[in-house]
Amino acid sequence: MTSTQPATGELPTAGRENIPAAGRRTAMRTHLCGDLRANQVGQTVSVCGWVAHRRQHGAALTFVDLRDHSGLVQVVVDGSVDVRSEYVLRITGTVVIRPEGTSNPGLATGEIELRDCTVEILSTATPPPFPLDDRADAVDESTRLAYRYLDLRRERMQRNLRTRSAVLGAMRAALAPLDFVEVETPLLMPSTPEGAREFIVPSRQFPGSFYALPQSPQLFKQLLMVGGTDRYFQFARCLRDEDLRADRQYEFTQLDIEMSFVDQDDILDVISAAVLAAARTVVGGEVPAIERITWHEAMNRFGVDKPDLRFGLELVELTAIFADSGFKAFAGAAAIKGIRVPGGSAGHNRRKLDDLTDRAKSLGAKGLVWMRVGADGALESPVRKFLSDTEAAGIVAATSAVEGDLLLLVADEWATACEVLGQLRNDLGRPPAGQGPLRFVWVVDFPLFVGIDTVTGRPKPGHHPFTRPHPDDLEKMESDPLSVRSRAYDLVLNGWELGSGSIRIHESELQQRIFGLLGITPEEANARFGFFLTPFGYGAPPHGGFAVGIDRLVAILAGEENIREVIAFPKTQSGLDPLTGAPTPVADRQLRELGVRVVAAAASAGSGTAAGSGSSAGSGAKSGG
Ligand code: ASP
Repeated sequence: MTSTQPATGELPTAGRENIPAAGRRTAMRTHLCGDLRANQVGQTVSVCGWVAHRRQHGAALTFVDLRDHSGLVQVVVDGSVDVRSEYVLRITGTVVIRPEGTSNPGLATGEIELRDCTVEILSTATPPPFPLDDRADAVDESTRLAYRYLDLRRERMQRNLRTRSAVLGAMRAALAPLDFVEVETPLLMPSTPEGAREFIVPSRQFPGSFYALPQSPQLFKQLLMVGGTDRYFQFARCLRDEDLRADRQYEFTQLDIEMSFVDQDDILDVISAAVLAAARTVVGGEVPAIERITWHEAMNRFGVDKPDLRFGLELVELTAIFADSGFKAFAGAAAIKGIRVPGGSAGHNRRKLDDLTDRAKSLGAKGLVWMRVGADGALESPVRKFLSDTEAAGIVAATSAVEGDLLLLVADEWATACEVLGQLRNDLGRPPAGQGPLRFVWVVDFPLFVGIDTVTGRPKPGHHPFTRPHPDDLEKMESDPLSVRSRAYDLVLNGWELGSGSIRIHESELQQRIFGLLGITPEEANARFGFFLTPFGYGAPPHGGFAVGIDRLVAILAGEENIREVIAFPKTQSGLDPLTGAPTPVADRQLRELGVRVVAAAASAGSGTAAGSGSSAGSGAKSGG
């Protein structure tokens, strides 16, 4: 497995090779610290940066590692100059080869150093609360975020910021020749029933009325199509008031696109070009073309709708083998599926197998059947005695099992069998985010409906109700709604959902038919979606779109497990910003103007700031919010 990350001390490929030397020069510096090499020996250069380390060599000499965003360079300065950690210096000196035996092959500038230096102290510094190198990775996250401006000085964070910038640049460049128009859409909009919980903003002019912050520009991008814009894109900030996780923040960025007069392939081609351009820029080489599988195949083979294709352990279909089984648990099951863990027998003692069984049950399975494969395909399993020899041989043949393998089987409803084994597959085989190849995959033909509502008896939509049904399944919409596929598709990278999109419904007859199935009356539709449906009555082109989650894409390309590492100023997992103290109470006068009264429970929680109670490190670093 190869890592997608550049080696320590190296900059991200991230477009830097295209920056001419002149682009790095300023009135104060001739070079960046990390750019100096042996071929500059003899030149007098000026560099600016922060003191990363310093070592006193007797009274006469001090060795300083000067840091800027490009890397470190060693400078040798007069021992009498008082330079301390994180002081900001301008150094003018001569590039020389380091004395024999003292070069540092681990550092890009390790062959050279600066001598005969003039030192200007541009700024003194309070010692930072944690070391600004890899050791900070072990520092409590809320402390890192409280001092994010120091955390950002670190090589890892600078590399991540630049990777992000390179990704945005590459995507923009990929869209430019395709006639896309960049359009900004409003942040203040009405509350819409899109799905997620919204952030709302009280209106001062209209007390009691509220704006909502956009969950996505969905509404406006479709109206741009009605407005004849043809091809829209935007790096859109989206806001959803949902519980935060490693791959979710309140605010996130999407490459949002919408296109007119298209079918699915047009959208998939454009997005593929944009994400592959981004990936190539970061990894500096070819990235495999994007495969395409149907949702049904994804579930059948990987047990999830966001399959990680970096590893095997695929689900195997076993139902037919047990059609006439004498084993009760198998005989009546709608579906029986299994995974083969190569060489898995040895690593799984009874306790581990019990843990796997508990895990399967916690995921909704009635149980988990395990089998160790012995010599000549003999199966060792608590259920072996219930199976015929033909069934045992059938399992071995279907899974291609060999001696030493472990087989895990689930018999259940098809969806449960798939989902449980899909989770176990991930538990057992999934590599960390930054490891292995980049395996993008399109998952297409999602079901239009995800089940029947037990209360209303109506089908439940899998996406928003403007998602277009698959043209081949229109006949079955009323008779067999759960078998109807949609023109909705997801892009998945290494098991992370990178984004989703769909071809939309643009004709009112089809829209009415869907509303009818969902039990939404024309009056209700008008009340809920009128602002959207009325414009469609004025001539809507066939259209569709997609949104790529930039934070997730950049995190994977940067080899990070957590999107917070690729966002300059993220919130903590509990939604706080330890740097600024947000969220904070506001003055009574502001509330009065807005016609908003805070009820007691919320008011007592706000007696300090939320961040003040959540982070001890925050208080010193707050900007006073
Ligand atoms: N608005 C959708 C989302 O944010 C994307 C789309 O359908 O274009 O996931």
